[in-house]
Amino acid sequence: MSELAQEIQAAVASRRNFAIISHPDAGKTTLTEKLLLYGGAIHQAGAVKARRAQRHATSDWMEMEQQRGISITSTVLQFDYQGYQINLLDTPGHQDFSEDTYRTLAAADNAVMLVDAAKGLEPQTRKLFEVCQLRALPIFTFINKMDRPGQESLELIDEIEQELGLQTFPVLWPIGIGDQFRGVYDRLRQEFHLFERSEHGRKEAQETIIPMGDARIDQLIEPHLYHQLKDELELLDGVGAELDLDLIHQGKMTPVFFGSAMTNFGVKLFLEHFLEKALKPIAYRSSKGAIEPTTENFTGFVFKLQANMDPKHRDRVAFIRVCSGKFEKDMNVSHARTGKSLRLSRPQKLFAQGRESIETAYPGDVIGLNNPGMFAIGDTLYVGPKLEYEGIPCFSPEIFAYLRNPNPSKFKQFQKGVNELREEGAVQIMYATDPTKREPILAAVGQLQFEVVQFRLMNEYGVETRLDPLPYTVARWVVDGWPALEAAGRIFNALTVQDNWERPVLLFKNEWNVQQMETDHPKLRLSRIAPIGF
Ligand code: GDP
Repeated sequence: MSELAQEIQAAVASRRNFAIISHPDAGKTTLTEKLLLYGGAIHQAGAVKARRAQRHATSDWMEMEQQRGISITSTVLQFDYQGYQINLLDTPGHQDFSEDTYRTLAAADNAVMLVDAAKGLEPQTRKLFEVCQLRALPIFTFINKMDRPGQESLELIDEIEQELGLQTFPVLWPIGIGDQFRGVYDRLRQEFHLFERSEHGRKEAQETIIPMGDARIDQLIEPHLYHQLKDELELLDGVGAELDLDLIHQGKMTPVFFGSAMTNFGVKLFLEHFLEKALKPIAYRSSKGAIEPTTENFTGFVFKLQANMDPKHRDRVAFIRVCSGKFEKDMNVSHARTGKSLRLSRPQKLFAQGRESIETAYPGDVIGLNNPGMFAIGDTLYVGPKLEYEGIPCFSPEIFAYLRNPNPSKFKQFQKGVNELREEGAVQIMYATDPTKREPILAAVGQLQFEVVQFRLMNEYGVETRLDPLPYTVARWVVDGWPALEAAGRIFNALTVQDNWERPVLLFKNEWNVQQMETDHPKLRLSRIAPIGF
């Protein structure tokens, strides 16, 4: 084996890449901070939030980001732990939920599903879970906020099994909950981990580890908690499935962990089990079949474009997931869509500490490249024989509005702006089938996307626009195209539009109307996702 091949193989073996999927407030920021704390990337948890605040103080972030006090950018946090190199892809959430949140999952090898113990599964988590399932990503479940009153642990497990159709294997089981949360039992290591609360979990939590069968446990936890734990463990051993690493890697079984990110209970155990069981960088499907990450030729694809991170330079950054080989600064690569050759200079890596330029990157890493405007979402970069990665699908938008240009003299700029923003993947554009109504319909998964489009049309193209909201919340592509739609006859309770590639899309007011359509027209195949372009 060549030296380079060995180097790539070692890099792949030590890398673990994941994204956290959760609903706002479940504790993603808190968990991220604690994970970084163990990675030694920051010395005191709290720095992630501090970084956020500091970012607003400096001026090189998009004006709108500052006005709204939110972060539009998803970055990659890289840290080391016990010889592993970990890449945490930060998925935008909250008010900044957008298609980027979905696309980030296209660059992930594993997902951590963070659930609030009191709330159980929530809408944003379910949507993100669906996207993970399209790629059959392994899902690691962390049930958070066990230091507060929450639902019964067995009920939470049942909810995941029933509603998501995932088998579960609880690796950690909680000892008590709320005020009485004492720690966790590790079913694989067969150890009790009892925690002591430190000041707001700022430091690594103090813990006492006691093996199963050690008599000291009687003195350390209250008898009623011990009995309850024993009963529950017996039940899990009796009816629960065995841990099956293959099923985990196929996304069919989720290992479950209980803890409290805020007080730092269970986070370290979670991280260690995760690193042991998570997939290392995976092979991606391409026009040349699945490409192993250890292939020597560098390949990767664009999963996100970020405009105006630095308004002084009006630059754009293209985020690329490295899929195979070794990336080196200033290397020459081919751009599959245009056939052009280009030199990749000024690459950036996004650290917990901020942006830094990089010299090399390996499969599972993400690099940011200054984008002269030639990159689109899903584009493949490669060295060696030509290949193209599968691309990133677009997902059903949930909000729709006509975008009006009240000033006819700005027609050209308006058209140009709308087209460029669509190509960049900032928003989906649809059109009414009636040729006299050529005003674009903006379609997005989050309100912020509309605001970004309007803001950028104004700032970059000098066009002031108006939005007229449409009352739809669901889109479905007609899988077999126009002939199938015509064959179905009259369609009630849906608006027929076409996407940018003139494919038919039906817009519905709600899911109930979709179900009704499926009942009325059982032969009409509808899909909630469409590939991007062709
Ligand atoms: P995000 O919206 O998912 O990023 O959630 P945050 O990390 O910002 O947390 C939302 C709120 O929940 C904050 O007030 C946190 O302090 C709190 N929180 C996070 N983790 C825990 C936990 O384990 N226990 C308790 N009691 N609160 C938590």
